Amino acid sequence: MLLSIVIPVYNEKDNIAPLLERLVPIIETFDFEILFVNDGSRDGTPEIIKDHAKKEKRIKLLSFNRNFGHQAALVAGYRFAEGDAVITMDADMQDPPDIIPEMVQKWEKGAKIVYAKREKRDVDSFFKKLTAQLFYRFMNAMSDRKIPEDVGDYRLLDREVVDFLKALPEHSPFLRGLVAWSGYPEEYVYFVREKRHAGKTHYSLSKMINFAMDGITSFSVKPLRIASYMGFAAATAGFIGMIYAIIGKFLLPIPWVTGWTGLFVGVMFIGGVQLITIGIIGEYISKIYLEVLNRPHYTIKEKINI
Ligand code: UDP
Ligand code: MG
Repeated sequence: MLLSIVIPVYNEKDNIAPLLERLVPIIETFDFEILFVNDGSRDGTPEIIKDHAKKEKRIKLLSFNRNFGHQAALVAGYRFAEGDAVITMDADMQDPPDIIPEMVQKWEKGAKIVYAKREKRDVDSFFKKLTAQLFYRFMNAMSDRKIPEDVGDYRLLDREVVDFLKALPEHSPFLRGLVAWSGYPEEYVYFVREKRHAGKTHYSLSKMINFAMDGITSFSVKPLRIASYMGFAAATAGFIGMIYAIIGKFLLPIPWVTGWTGLFVGVMFIGGVQLITIGIIGEYISKIYLEVLNRPHYTIKEKINI
């Protein structure tokens, strides 16, 4: 059996050598390949990988022309990996390689998906923990099939699941969701997430929000339904207001020029509901637009040992 390790890298020059030093002895008992997907690094990362690839043919490199994003790099990794089992992991050693043998064991026992699950998130900032938790809560409230909590992109997939992902025609596949959605038998291996070895995170707040929006809109149309409910609620409130206004005008002895507050609140409320609704529809239209364009996820600059 062949084990593929797919590692997306974006400006990780100081992490390559230490990672290989730690990873290779652990997987040496297997027949393996290590596939680096260079996502448009500008700090000399690919040169360092090429040096290693010259000495060791099982180290492979796929380079993009520019930065296409972590998810695109994973998609490419799944396309080019040849293993019977494919493990995806970060380059910064936040995903410790030590648990790989355990993941492989669970796979050999029949699991098609083996997730590495974070036991503690001590090293993550309070903010990261909070946003991650909010993300999973919201995501799982919105979609029918739950994605497991505290599970990132560190996972092992059987060839069958990889082929399933490769066959999907989606332009921007939300991998975490799709893997869970596929329903293949899954297992967990627990680990404590370590600190980033060198460099800093590439996931800024805006990227995390985009990622969350993408995740929700790829997996659920509930936001559209919520928009309709908001519309119903606003219309009901408007109807009640209308009856009140008509009755007030003809039956109640109030001088009918006051009521500015009611008018103002009504206009603001309806305006808000409309904008939110248009925004939600816009999100889905942009998804449709991107799917229709059907552009590739990435463009390739070079392949080494592939
Ligand atoms: N990465 C990538 N393209 C990007 C951003 C990140 O290939 O545009 C890689 C990065 O080199 C790392 C992995 O994706 O190997 C995870 O990124 P990072 O460690 O910055 O994310 P975090 O662990 O902070 O969520
Ligand atoms: Mg990381």
